[in-house]
Amino acid sequence: MNCLEVQKQLDQLLDVTVDDATVTEFLNHIETCESCQDDAKSYFTLMTIVRQLDNDMGKAGLIDYDKAYDNRIRLIRDHVIRNKLRKWNKRIAFCILIVVLAVILW
Ligand SMILES: [Zn+2]
Repeated sequence: MNCLEVQKQLDQLLDVTVDDATVTEFLNHIETCESCQDDAKSYFTLMTIVRQLDNDMGKAGLIDYDKAYDNRIRLIRDHVIRNKLRKWNKRIAFCILIVVLAVILW
């Protein structure tokens, strides 16, 4: 994934409305590209402020936006890892099922 692709999809990437492979590429890219990481933080901060205003939560006090961004990225990473584990669990369960069926039918 290059910088232009990150810029075009920031909203989808931060909301995880794209596939896990794309999200993983995004996470890897922003780890090494300071410019895109700054853009992602700015976009996230702006969207958080807009959502606060929409929900009339502006009076709730100031948020540490850097910390909120770090939490969002951590949640996205956890989401991708959980999905990978789920896929592997299904594969392992399928293999065990095949072995059990082979033993029973033999
Ligand atoms: Zn970049």
